[in-house]
Amino acid sequence: GGTIGILGGGQLGRMMAMSAAQLGYHCITYSPERDSVAAEVCSDFFCNKWDDRAALAAFAQKCDVITWEFENVPVAPLQPIKDQIFPHPRALETAQDRLAEKRFVEKLGGTPAAFATIDSHADLITAVDRIGAPGILKTRRDGYDGKGQWRVDSSRDAEGLRLPDTATIYEGFVEFFAEFSVILVRGQDGEVRFWDSAENLHEDGVLAASTLPASTRIQEQVEPARKLAASVAQALNYVGVLTCEFFATHEGPIFNEMAPRVHNSGHWSIEGAATSQFENHIRAICGLPLGDTATIAPHVAMRNIIGKEAKTAQDMLAEPNMHLHLYGKRHARDGRKMGHATKLVWDAE
Ligand code: ATP
Ligand code: MG
Ligand code: MG
Repeated sequence: GGTIGILGGGQLGRMMAMSAAQLGYHCITYSPERDSVAAEVCSDFFCNKWDDRAALAAFAQKCDVITWEFENVPVAPLQPIKDQIFPHPRALETAQDRLAEKRFVEKLGGTPAAFATIDSHADLITAVDRIGAPGILKTRRDGYDGKGQWRVDSSRDAEGLRLPDTATIYEGFVEFFAEFSVILVRGQDGEVRFWDSAENLHEDGVLAASTLPASTRIQEQVEPARKLAASVAQALNYVGVLTCEFFATHEGPIFNEMAPRVHNSGHWSIEGAATSQFENHIRAICGLPLGDTATIAPHVAMRNIIGKEAKTAQDMLAEPNMHLHLYGKRHARDGRKMGHATKLVWDAE
């Protein structure tokens, strides 16, 4: 037993806490929002601002170990409690800034999309000239689910675009044939295990579905992608679950971004793997032996339940081998992740 603190109040924290409870732990969440779907399954919660250092100190005092489920937790206020936090907050620092993240990965031998830092409109014009169009202008910080991104189809587009009043980067558009992610868990002793890589389908910048096994032409790219993800984990002395997203291209895997946490494209592992990403994250941060990551069914398909789709989601339960997860969110805003469903197929043709 013991008490695990979770920074963030979303569905990732909720599913983490459910795995932790199975192993006999108590969880406490810390997040500024009132309607936290993670707090609902925890024994206690702190509803405080991210920079409330007194509250963070009180939170830390109640916890044996602390982790996060939200990658945009401000890092500076965590400094006084950092020794209790797994993974180390330096992983947050790197992943929170798309520029720092890309430079870091390049140093490790990875290949991101062509990119340029944009500080002015003139920078954007120069970048589109050099890198070409189409491309995507992205805020360096705070983006998720495709928010804070603008597609640029031509230099004329770039001329007409008004920059947001926050730092951005311009990325060349990658002509990928598919997307996949590498999800690994790294233990306190440095042991690394990988889940099989799912093939990820995005719609409007939001993950729609993850399918296993991935096509052979993706599988050919998993090995170099794993190598890069493992060196990212090692360089950060990472403990817990780490995700790296990739574009599969004819030139090999292009690094998109990392998520220093459990990931939507790993939700299939709850029923589809011997040990889920959530359980292995808890095992890693608590210093327990890591569990087997093997896929247990010949075919696994995870689909997100977005916005109003949640209304009829329970109908899916009529299908055999369908596992439904609803996150308990009270408002089904458009594009919001309300739940997911995983189907295991045992008698694949
Ligand atoms: P997440 O919710 O995964 O954190 P995010 O807001 O950080 O999303 P990205 O992963 O940068 O967004 O982009 C979302 C999706 O948009 C990608 O998975 C991909 O489908 C598409 N995309 C992003 N950047 C590029 C690019 N340079 N070339 C081609 N497609 C891209
Ligand atoms: Mg992201
Ligand atoms: Mg992404």
